[in-house]
Amino acid sequence: MVNDAVKKILRQINREEIVEFIKKLIKVETVETEAPIVPVITDKMKQIGMKVEVYETFNPGFPDKKRPCILGTLSGKEKKPLLCFNGHTDVVPVEFPSKWKHSPFDPEVEGGRLYGRGAADMKGGLGCMIMAAQALVNAGIELTGTLAVAAVPGEETGGWGSESTVNRRDWDAVVIGEPTDMSINPACNGIATFWIKVTGKSAHASKPEKGINAIDKMLNVWSAFEGYKERLNKRVHPLSGKPAFVSCIIEGGWRGVIVADECKLHITTHMIPGETIESRYTEVIEILEELKNKDSELNVEMLDWKGEAITLPLPSSGPDRPRLDPTEIPAEDPLVQAMLKGSGDALDRRLPIGGSRYACDSPFYVNEGNIPALIFGPGNIDHAHTYDEWVDVSQLVDATKVYAAGAMRYLGSQFE
Ligand SMILES: [Zn+2]
Repeated sequence: MVNDAVKKILRQINREEIVEFIKKLIKVETVETEAPIVPVITDKMKQIGMKVEVYETFNPGFPDKKRPCILGTLSGKEKKPLLCFNGHTDVVPVEFPSKWKHSPFDPEVEGGRLYGRGAADMKGGLGCMIMAAQALVNAGIELTGTLAVAAVPGEETGGWGSESTVNRRDWDAVVIGEPTDMSINPACNGIATFWIKVTGKSAHASKPEKGINAIDKMLNVWSAFEGYKERLNKRVHPLSGKPAFVSCIIEGGWRGVIVADECKLHITTHMIPGETIESRYTEVIEILEELKNKDSELNVEMLDWKGEAITLPLPSSGPDRPRLDPTEIPAEDPLVQAMLKGSGDALDRRLPIGGSRYACDSPFYVNEGNIPALIFGPGNIDHAHTYDEWVDVSQLVDATKVYAAGAMRYLGSQFE
């Protein structure tokens, strides 16, 4: 019976139609505001027969910009279970358009790849989720539970859309369509960023012993971090791989004849499930304390993105709480099993289970909402946030099939 339903769904999935819809999404430049993409998505959702709701996001970062969330609901026979497909509508900026061979906001297909900003991250995945809802409707599938697609803003700048959506409904499960290269990922790494600031003492460069050189002191900190990175490299999560601890920006000194009295290092770090932002910060502070014990001239602090000192324990609520901790749900979770079965139904092969090394919106659902969420989507993260971003068109087609068949497995239908 389920096989008959899957055949009906597959007949409704059309490669050209998927590509055309995702091209429309890419054409809208959603870097600082997502407002212009609202009609493109809501028109499509209404055409499918979804109930559409648009609401504003709590957004302290961009108070003057419109950051709307779109929630399209495909009511089933019952209100529950309630499954959410989540995809973000914002993209990262195009900083060097001249380095693109393809136009970032005028998408095109070449050699089986769809090129454009957001093709992989993640207008591809979002478009497939909406097209999957369309395929279910057009195939005449009456879902038992209810499917919603949340098109959320602000993922690239902190997850404001998902934060505003997690409590909007009583979700039972969430699929986040970030690019996983077609693996079904119950595990996802977390992210944190911070500054290390060394304060020294300026002096004439001819008599450096009169000052304290903040750059030299920072190099000692940096070399202690190199040792820490070796420890981190030995921590491997079976699904989401290794943590990361990366020096991204260094600033220090201000004139060629003066001993530098300040040096700042920006670190971006990814935690694996089992680690937390709090545990990472604790380890970093321990390293700094050890260095300070050995060197009485070392004046070093750990600062947050606003430049304020980080002190432990971190707040457990409010905007400064750790927001993007790692997430993991068990492979036995009904959501994971439904998506795996759906992939077997739709593609004649079960997709592999995996993990995401990047962070995404999953902690709002898993850690704060206590709602199982996995990550699954077309495209490879290696092709995102870079020049000539692309997604494999055959993955777009396959992901649409898996979203539709997975939703049917999770929510049930008249074909059981
Ligand atoms: Zn993304």
